[in-house]
Amino acid sequence: MKKKLIAGNWKMNGSVASNEALIQALSAGAVDAQCLMAVCVPAIYLVQVQRLVAGSGIELGAQDVSAHESGAYTGEVSAAMLREYGVRYALVGHSERRQYHGESDAAVAGKAQRALAAGITPIVCVGETLAEREQGLTEEVVKRQLAAVIHTNGHCISEIAVAYEPVWAIGTGKTASPEQAQHVHAVLRAQLRAATEHADKIHILYGGSMNAANAVQLLSQADIDGGLVGGASLKAVDFLSIIAAASV
Ligand code: PEP
Repeated sequence: MKKKLIAGNWKMNGSVASNEALIQALSAGAVDAQCLMAVCVPAIYLVQVQRLVAGSGIELGAQDVSAHESGAYTGEVSAAMLREYGVRYALVGHSERRQYHGESDAAVAGKAQRALAAGITPIVCVGETLAEREQGLTEEVVKRQLAAVIHTNGHCISEIAVAYEPVWAIGTGKTASPEQAQHVHAVLRAQLRAATEHADKIHILYGGSMNAANAVQLLSQADIDGGLVGGASLKAVDFLSIIAAASV
């Protein structure tokens, strides 16, 4: 059985001092962890956190990556640049990027492509809004979002990770029930199976108000291979309890 993956998304949080304290506490607390671990940090802190996580088993992640290789794209950071600083994972298509930066399915697919070409695992985020769920569109939305990435990256699709993050559950304290989450994960797994014979090795993470209290149940679902954790990844004790829940 593959190890679960627990990835923290710090979003736009942190400071030189707090990053150091957090990583020190995580490294000390996660020595016996039996899952894969990563922290996706603001770009400005990648160099600092690369140094801090060295030898700890915690992998370095970025929160975004450019869809372009290089050139006149002010403010963007390329996949090759991220790789130079030891980045192993990059979030692509997080709902906050889709919502506040207008990222289309095609742009997200291009970002995944650049990450894969640089040897970085893109964590492709998909998820429906509350309005979409209420209209019965959940499956249609997540399948459309994933289809764009499969279409562009079919040849190496087994190298991606996916995060199902219902938008209504992100940062709201409302979590999808384990059954709701498992249902969507099974839909995504079936879609991946149609694209690759290696679909079972792909990590499909759940994200959306995952915490110490709900992690065990969510992570025990058949198709939930880990978690993408926002708020609870900023407190060592909370993140470590999710890591412990994923280590059984
Ligand atoms: C996220 O930002 O990807 C996320 C899941 O946030 P939270 O855990 O705070 O809902």
